Amino acid sequence: MAKIKKIAVLTSGGDAPGMNAAVRAVVRAAIYHKLEVVGIEHGYEGMIKGELFTLMSKDMRNIIHRGGTILRTARSLEFKTEEGRAKAYKNLKEFNIDAVVVIGGDGTFRGAGIFSQEHDIPFVGIPGTIDNDMYGTDFTIGFDTALNTVVETIDKIKDTASSHDRTFFIEVMGRDAGFIALQAGIATGAEAVLIPEIEGQAETLREFLIKAKKMKKMSNIILVAEGNNIGGAQEIANQVKSEFKDFGIRVNVLGHMQRGGSPTAFDRFLASRLGVAAVEALIDNQRSIMVGYKNHEVVHVSFNKTIKGHRNINEELLKVADILTI
Ligand code: ADP
Repeated sequence: MAKIKKIAVLTSGGDAPGMNAAVRAVVRAAIYHKLEVVGIEHGYEGMIKGELFTLMSKDMRNIIHRGGTILRTARSLEFKTEEGRAKAYKNLKEFNIDAVVVIGGDGTFRGAGIFSQEHDIPFVGIPGTIDNDMYGTDFTIGFDTALNTVVETIDKIKDTASSHDRTFFIEVMGRDAGFIALQAGIATGAEAVLIPEIEGQAETLREFLIKAKKMKKMSNIILVAEGNNIGGAQEIANQVKSEFKDFGIRVNVLGHMQRGGSPTAFDRFLASRLGVAAVEALIDNQRSIMVGYKNHEVVHVSFNKTIKGHRNINEELLKVADILTI
């Protein structure tokens, strides 16, 4: 395989705090290893449209602490077509790109894997998504920050909940996975957590509310992951309101604020390590792999494995949440 001289980096899919720290690490590691680096704006959409530009070390100044992504991100329908990917390939060739680092979620890695089968340009992925639902890595970039944002917000809501004896249904992100809800639930001492991974929680919630009513415990925090099996926070609140009239029920949907803000020290640290590892993997002629983080070590996981694998919720965490809400 020819020696790599020039690489490109992009962010794709949903934005996550710490993506900038990852871009910075990729750029600086590439320069350290005497490679040229090109940034691609708007993910695969920019690759198709030719939004490529050279990045220098100084361009990376003062971004490690910034949320979002300076490269912007986008979802690209065209990249899902062979013609779209052929256009992207033409642009990469025009810029003499030998390899690409993509920062995103499993959709991004799926696209990268397909592209690399059709065209001879290796891709390495860095997991960036607040949901932490990727197989093969203990953490994805952005999760720790989102978790901390959610915890801070719940703490504030809890002040009102306890002062006014109210029961709050708080909806947090997690369409397919309840990692944010479960861990925020443990960290804030929430009374109940509703997540996609568990069936039959409508009955558990009812039993909890009956018990709380008996104990005259009217101040409660019930965390609702978006993708749980009952419904949205408002919908669930509406369902229980008629039976539990004594509760002062309120609803808070946290929304996009969970994705923003300055990354935590952990996310910056993770992004920095994975950024360097991604560049070094490409130099070692690796392709179609994600650089992940397992037991505090950097690991390589094939795109196939991470895309096909399913990250299960940790049973021990479920038990801890259960024990501590009595
Ligand atoms: P994430 O990477 O956060 O999971 P998406 O699922 O939106 O986010 O994927 C990001 C982008 O990856 C998509 O907009 C699309 O361009 C590309 N992509 C996803 N799935 C495929 C696929 N099956 N084939 C080609 N490209 C894909």
